[in-house]
Amino acid sequence: MANTEQTYIMIKPDGVQRGLVGEIIKRFEQKGFTLRALELKMVDRALAEKHYEDLSSKPFFAGLVDYILSGPVVAMVWEGKGVVLTGRKIIGATNPAQSEPGTIRGDYAIDIGRNIIHGSDAVESAQKEIALWFPSGVAHYATALAPWIYEKP
Ligand code: UDP
Ligand code: MG
Repeated sequence: MANTEQTYIMIKPDGVQRGLVGEIIKRFEQKGFTLRALELKMVDRALAEKHYEDLSSKPFFAGLVDYILSGPVVAMVWEGKGVVLTGRKIIGATNPAQSEPGTIRGDYAIDIGRNIIHGSDAVESAQKEIALWFPSGVAHYATALAPWIYEKP
């Protein structure tokens, strides 16, 4: 199937605390992407460190891990044509000072260290992250709206 690309999206603890879960899910839903997995969970340190292992040498790494551990996150898998790149566009630039208005970070965040949401940056990292966060897999179900969203579903 042409439309089965998946991405890992995570609402970080600040996004949950600030009551942005519904707003964020709404943006992905209304775009036409399909929700394949969703879990509200407290993260343990090992998982947070593994998720961000590529950044382990950065000066902000310890603070970043503590931030992810500071409250529950909403872990999700979204699917659809081009969802990795389009998801990054919906989210906006890493530093909310540079995120365009209309993006999630551009509309709801100010500090880079409190930027409310994560999205995979490439198809390969998405596959790694989905396997890490949802080791028992995601939900497979037919979406009745596909012909209304895709010219060639
Ligand atoms: N981050 C930070 N300070 C920085 C750069 C990044 O606190 O100078 C945090 C920020 O929460 C960011 C996360 O580290 O979302 C992961 O960084 P990455 O460069 O992968 O950005 P993203 O893919 O989340 O846009
Ligand atoms: Mg990243």
